[in-house]
Amino acid sequence: MPLSDFDRYPLLFGPSPVHPLDRLSAHLGGARIWAKRDDCNSGLAFGGNKTRKLEYLVPDALRQGADTLVTIGGVQSNHTRQVAAVAAKVGLKARLVQESWVDWPDPVNDKVGNILLSRVMGAHVELVDAGFGIGVKDSWNRALEEVRAAGGTPYAIPAGASDHPLGGLGFAGWAGEVQEQERELGVFFDTIVVCTVTGSTHAGMVAGFAGQDRPRRVLGIDASAKPEETRAQVERIARGTAELIGLGRDLRDDEISVLSGWAGDRYGIPVDSTMEAIRLTGGLEGVILDPVYEGKSMAGLIGLIRGGEIPRESNVLYAHLGGQPALNAYSGLFR
Ligand SMILES: *Cc1c(COP(=O)(O)O)cnc(C)c1O
Repeated sequence: MPLSDFDRYPLLFGPSPVHPLDRLSAHLGGARIWAKRDDCNSGLAFGGNKTRKLEYLVPDALRQGADTLVTIGGVQSNHTRQVAAVAAKVGLKARLVQESWVDWPDPVNDKVGNILLSRVMGAHVELVDAGFGIGVKDSWNRALEEVRAAGGTPYAIPAGASDHPLGGLGFAGWAGEVQEQERELGVFFDTIVVCTVTGSTHAGMVAGFAGQDRPRRVLGIDASAKPEETRAQVERIARGTAELIGLGRDLRDDEISVLSGWAGDRYGIPVDSTMEAIRLTGGLEGVILDPVYEGKSMAGLIGLIRGGEIPRESNVLYAHLGGQPALNAYSGLFR
């Protein structure tokens, strides 16, 4: 059925803003770069891409009579912080399983930034010892059991709200929003650049744009450092979402592109190109990027412009998906 027929619980301010990054564009000497700001899409604990996805999961949770949102992420997960905010807003409890996805030595890693915000909002935060992975985990199943054992009704939200039947809908809607904004601005974004890890942001965009008349490139920049797994997940979610919203055709393989080369060796650890992207975007535009996700996708965008893969006459839209609270755990990088 069409996307507009799905229940959506409004959590955003409205369409996220779109604006040009002219000093960064001039610095790179070509391709006009624009940003669509899902880092400030909502008044709920600074928002971000997961808040947009959750607009479609919340009605499902309420329909099922859930009283607790249960989810999982790394210690500095933006996703779990957004689930905590949405739970507070909607009047549900939040139970967050925070795994050690990133071996990061900062002494306040488990005290500041996202995890601090989740605690402020009253979420039940549980730190567990398990490494990075985007799949289903024992600790997550245990959390669900414990909620049930205590007489509660959990609603399970997988990492990044991605591996969920409704996970791609939020960013399928983003594609339609872009089309509207293009009309207002009198511009066409021939290339979209987006960070991809758990996959449903990128996948939702692919499914949404596939239904539009004018083709464009959607380039997912891998930040998981496990690009094969991420690509498989993006493909699966994109195809599932396309079917759900009645695209009426199969997605072609060339519509799904996950690019590697900017993640470094490990999820959550910035490399030189990440740091350069963060400093350039901050110093030239006053726009803040994080070292886990957005610094890596901006590094990809910069690399693709410098390499000529994104041509000078291009209008490229950078999807800013949030993530700034995590910077508090990375202060050592900027001393
Ligand atoms: C989760 C997240 C991403 C990646 O989105 P996925 O849907 O997990 O691929 C990118 N940027 C930020 C800031 C995020 O929090």
